[in-house]
Amino acid sequence: MRTLILNAGYEPLAVVSDRRALILVMAGKASVLAGVAGHPVFGIGGMWERPSVIILARYVRVPMASGVPLTRRGVLRRDGHRCAYCGKSANTVDHVQPKSRGGADSWDNLVAACVTCNNKKADKTLREMGWELPFAPRQPHGTAWMVRGMERPVPQWSDYLAA
Ligand SMILES: [Zn+2]
Repeated sequence: MRTLILNAGYEPLAVVSDRRALILVMAGKASVLAGVAGHPVFGIGGMWERPSVIILARYVRVPMASGVPLTRRGVLRRDGHRCAYCGKSANTVDHVQPKSRGGADSWDNLVAACVTCNNKKADKTLREMGWELPFAPRQPHGTAWMVRGMERPVPQWSDYLAA
């Protein structure tokens, strides 16, 4: 089980194991905002709610990384799991400028793609295919994107990921 940690100002800070989160709660360093019903944890002082979202008691200053970590899941999430070429449901990621032809592993050069389009395009360029992108792929913005593990949010987190 994974737990979302919010900074004292409610910004998403990190995703950790529920065990690690519970240690913070038991130590009085954080409190539980949302729990997983029906899955209590036995710990110091008895039974605890299994935390899904916790908030730190004190604000922590964190140096922000300069870029959003690039992941396959992140690209799929940014593009709403829709193929950039045909709009159908996508579960693969395609290099717009093929890797074999100098295309980079970057937010600007990766899009969600369905298997059919991905196979059809193979290592050709958009121009060779006569295809166009409906949008310019970019690095996503917002604090939620800066946190590793956020590509796979659980439903209980949604109220806290508005950013
Ligand atoms: Zn497609």
